[in-house]
Amino acid sequence: TSFQSLGLSEPLLKTIAEQNYTQPYPIQQAAIPAILKGNDVLGIAKTGSGKTASFVLPILESFQRLPPAKNRHITALVLVPTRELAVQIGTVFQTFGERLPRKVKTLAVFGGVSINPQMIAMQNVEILVATPGRLLELISYKALSLSETRVLVLDEADKMLNMGFADEMRDIFFLLPKNRQSILFSATLGDEVDKINKNQLKNPLRIEI
Ligand code: AMP
Repeated sequence: TSFQSLGLSEPLLKTIAEQNYTQPYPIQQAAIPAILKGNDVLGIAKTGSGKTASFVLPILESFQRLPPAKNRHITALVLVPTRELAVQIGTVFQTFGERLPRKVKTLAVFGGVSINPQMIAMQNVEILVATPGRLLELISYKALSLSETRVLVLDEADKMLNMGFADEMRDIFFLLPKNRQSILFSATLGDEVDKINKNQLKNPLRIEI
């Protein structure tokens, strides 16, 4: 299988080649076509599996056909447990988004730093990578809205729960439209993660790597 056959377009394929991604990893082979079709995905996968590109690439591809969102309305939300992961995923969106004709502004936000620069940077952001607590704080200041979010990614869901973000995650689910695409990645599928899977995902494609 090649990246071409997964349904990604030329500008993205060029960047994929530049990044020396010669072959899609198994998780990418399974997840990319499913996400492009709009299916929900439950991925049981660890860091190193290539899980980041498995959602970044199809999300960027889908944006090529989307009209720009209203200001401060996030179209795709990626929830992550840590600042490090937020920054890392933000960088991957930036790298693969570079050559695309339809520019997509991505921002990574996380706690432990002052909130004002993040509120200012939220202008015209369409893809937001966020830790749960800081996301809710930004929403309480009306820096952004999730009322028109079409795609939710939960990355390292087990770690988010282990870090005590269960309540924040529940509050965030409540703010998201029911009619959306949901993608959940977790290294393990324990009871708590499975509860989120059952309550938040619709008929997901299950991928275990
Ligand atoms: P991740 O599991 O998303 O943290 O990715 C692990 C590492 O694999 C990262 O350094 C990626 O840049 C790299 N990577 C992801 N997909 C591919 C691929 N298809 N070919 C080569 N490297 C890849």
